[in-house]
Amino acid sequence: LKGGFLSKLNATVVSNKEVAPGLFFLQVKPDAGVPDFKSGQYVALGLAEQDNESKLIKRAYSIGSAPHQKEALEFYIASVSDGELSPRLYQLKEGERLFCATKIVGTFTLDPVPEESDLIFVATGTGLAPFISMLRSNNLWSAGRKIWLLHGVRYENDLAYSDELQSYMRKYRNNFNYLAIVSRPSAGYNGVKGYVQKFFIEDTANAGLSVLTDPVRQHAFLCGNPAMVAEVSNLLKERGFTEHSRKLPGNLHLENYW
Ligand SMILES: Cc1cc2nc3c(=O)[nH]c(=O)nc-3n(C[C@H](O)[C@H](O)[C@H](O)COP(=O)(O)OP(=O)(O)OC[C@H]3O[C@@H](n4cnc5c(N)ncnc54)[C@H](O)[C@@H]3O)c2cc1C
Repeated sequence: LKGGFLSKLNATVVSNKEVAPGLFFLQVKPDAGVPDFKSGQYVALGLAEQDNESKLIKRAYSIGSAPHQKEALEFYIASVSDGELSPRLYQLKEGERLFCATKIVGTFTLDPVPEESDLIFVATGTGLAPFISMLRSNNLWSAGRKIWLLHGVRYENDLAYSDELQSYMRKYRNNFNYLAIVSRPSAGYNGVKGYVQKFFIEDTANAGLSVLTDPVRQHAFLCGNPAMVAEVSNLLKERGFTEHSRKLPGNLHLENYW
């Protein structure tokens, strides 16, 4: 590495755990310590470019750990085949160095949501990360609100965090509903199959989950694959949800990963 470059690598890998092939939890400790942030925000991670080591290649990653978890930042990442950065993050080992931006950013947070509002979280794949951070925060649960979480993945092995999410279902029996949906299940899979979109079209009673959309009481958060975000957002807009922006507050919050 050329002079001065090493100083850009300002964080260390605490652990890198594979969840399923190509899917991993990366724990990162910035040298300056875990900064303050809000659940739902993201940060840029980076490594040196392979053919120009004086340049950093950076990408955005949502933080999966909660703000009070000060040991490390946790990320939930998919190694995208042919991707420039994510396959290299996948290879990182404990103790290796990387870049972690000191500025944590993003408006996909619960800030604009009244405490008593019910919440609908919809994620595909690693788009689950911001919701894990929110669910790990104690103040999320304090208001007695209802929370639905729909997580769509391709293969059932990709259902990361499902043990943790099931434990919240037991703990917050009357308030929390988690539903996993698998689009390419193996032959023997007897969970819910298909795409998350269907829960906003079909009667969901069979799945034991009722996302009866109510734009007066609810805020919806959609995160991950842009095709899912666009489709579910259109379905919710038809039912009276309005997209949130700083200028025009609404109850539909969107985060596209690409
Ligand atoms: C606000 C924000 C937060 C993000 N948070 C996360 C996160 O928590 N975890 C995470 O894994 N990714 C996240 N991403 C995506 C991430 O920034 C990178 O785009 C991704 O890791 C691919 O980078 P790459 O350099 O390997 O691929 P590139 O060489 O940049 O190729 C990009 C292409 O990969 C595909 N792609 C990007 N992300 C994914 C994905 N997650 N799954 C499947 N295909 C994908 C798209 O087709 C995209 O055009 C986030 C993106 C944004 C904008």
